[in-house]
Amino acid sequence: MSLDINSSILIFGGSGTIGSSTALHLARKGYRNIRVLDVYPIPSAQSAGNDLNKIMGTSLRNPVDRQLSLEAEDAWSNDPTFSPYYHRSGRLDCCVSSDGINDLRDTVAKLEDAGLGHTVEWLDTEAQIIQRVPQLTGSNIQGWKGIFFERGGWLAAAKAIDSVGRELMRHGVQFSFGDSGTFQSLILSDDGKTCSGAVTKDGTRYLADRVVLASGAWTPSLVDLEDQCCSKAWVYAHMQLTPEEVKEYIGCPVVYNEDIGFFFEPNEDGIIKVCDEFPGFTRYKTHQPFGASKPTLVSIPRSHARHPTDTYPDASEITIRKAIAAFLPNFKDKELFNRAMCWCADTADANLLVCEHPRWKGCFVATGDSGHSFKLLPIIGKHVVELLEGTLQEDLREAWRWRPGSGDARKSTRAALAKDLADLPGWKHDSVDTEKGDSDHGVV
Ligand code: FAD
Repeated sequence: MSLDINSSILIFGGSGTIGSSTALHLARKGYRNIRVLDVYPIPSAQSAGNDLNKIMGTSLRNPVDRQLSLEAEDAWSNDPTFSPYYHRSGRLDCCVSSDGINDLRDTVAKLEDAGLGHTVEWLDTEAQIIQRVPQLTGSNIQGWKGIFFERGGWLAAAKAIDSVGRELMRHGVQFSFGDSGTFQSLILSDDGKTCSGAVTKDGTRYLADRVVLASGAWTPSLVDLEDQCCSKAWVYAHMQLTPEEVKEYIGCPVVYNEDIGFFFEPNEDGIIKVCDEFPGFTRYKTHQPFGASKPTLVSIPRSHARHPTDTYPDASEITIRKAIAAFLPNFKDKELFNRAMCWCADTADANLLVCEHPRWKGCFVATGDSGHSFKLLPIIGKHVVELLEGTLQEDLREAWRWRPGSGDARKSTRAALAKDLADLPGWKHDSVDTEKGDSDHGVV
C-alpha cells in the first residue's frame, strides 16, 4: 500500500537523533498520523545525541557523505529550528603520527577535488597552529600538523533535539514514552511477511502502515539485524572552569586530534567537554532479538540514564587525562564530572543502515550511525521519508542497503577491535546488580 498523508507511521527511537528528524520531516510534509515512541521523552536521556556538544564538519569519505554533509551545513545555517544551535567557532583537525598526517593531507586533496580547498588552511608548524588556536600555547604540540576549517564548529546537541521536539508538538505529532513507547515486538501477518504495527513493553498494540526503528545502538538487540551493526560505547568527561578561565577559552575552535581526542570551548555555564579517541567498547550478552531463530551474542547498550552511577572504565580515565594533558595542561588536575559512556551503532563500512527489513514488508530500519551522524540531525529524516515514499536517490539506497556478510561491524573502519566492558574494571558502581531490570531489550 502506498503512503499518503493519512497513513499511520510509528517511529521507535523518535526522541533520538535519526528518529526525531524522521518525525520532523514527515510532519513538515503534512503527514497527520505520526506517533513518536521512545523509552524517554524528547530529547531522550539515553540518546547518543543528548549531549552538550558535537562536532560539525564536512565528511568527504565518499560522495554520499559529502552530499549529506553539505545538505546538513546548509540546514544548520539556515533552518530556524536548527540555526541557533550551530556555533561557528572553527575547527582544527590535527595530528602528530605520520599516518594521521597523511590522512590530513588526503583530506586537503579531497577538499580541493571537491572545489572546497578554499575553505581550509593547512597548518604546517606549531606556530601556525597556535596562531589559529592561541589557547594551545603551552600545550605539547610538538610535531603537530593541522587543517583549520573556518566553516566548522560545534552543535549544541541536546538543545537542537529539544528544538525538534517543540516543532513536533506544534505539528500535533503523537507521543508515547516509557513502557508504552518501548519497543517489544512487531505485529506480523499470518505468513510472517508483512508488518502491521508493533507491541510495546506495557502490552499496547499499535497498528500502523509503516514502522520505523530508529533506535540507535539499541536496534541490534531489538530486531535481528544479521550482525550488520555492532553497538559500542564511547566516553566523555566534563570540567568546570572559573569565570576567569572561561574568558580565555571562549571562542576556542573545536580541536580534534585523531591520535588523542577532542575538546570544545566552554558552554554558557563554563563547562568544557573532553573526549578521547579509541575503537569503542562493546558489551556482549547472549540475547535473542525479535526475529532471530535462536539466542546469539549481541553487544547491548547499558544506558547511563537507567544506570546513573555508571561511569567509564579506569582505562578511559587514563586516556581522557592524557587528552587533557595534551590540550589543556593548565587544567590537568581539575576534577572531572559527568564521566559517562554514550552508545552508537557501527556498521562494517561506516555507512548508515536505512532500508526496509527484507523479511517484514512495512518495517524499516534507520540506524548504523557509526559514531558520526549527529551532524545529520536536520536532514537525515528527509531521506528516511524518501525511503518510506519509495523516492530515495539510487546512490543513497545503495549505500544504506541491507548488506549482511559484507564486513565486520565489530571492527568497522576503526584502527582495532573494540574491547569488551566485561574485561574492563572501573565503570560499574551499582550497589546491587541492576541488570535484571534492564529490560528495554529483554536482557535478563
Ligand atoms: P540515538 O540518538 O541514540 O537514538 C536512539 C533512540 O532510541 C534513543 O532515543 C533511545 O531512547 C531509543 N530507544 C532505545 N531503545 C528503545 C526501545 N526499546 N523502544 C523505543 N525506543 C528506544 N556525531 C557527530 O556528528 N559529531 C560528533 O562530534 C559526535 N561525537 C560523538 C561523541 C560521542 C562520545 C558519541 C557517543 C557519539 C558521537 N557522535 C557524533 C555520534 C552521534 O551522537 C550519533 O551518530 C547519533 O546521535 C546517533 O543517532 P541515532 O538516532 O542512531 O541514535
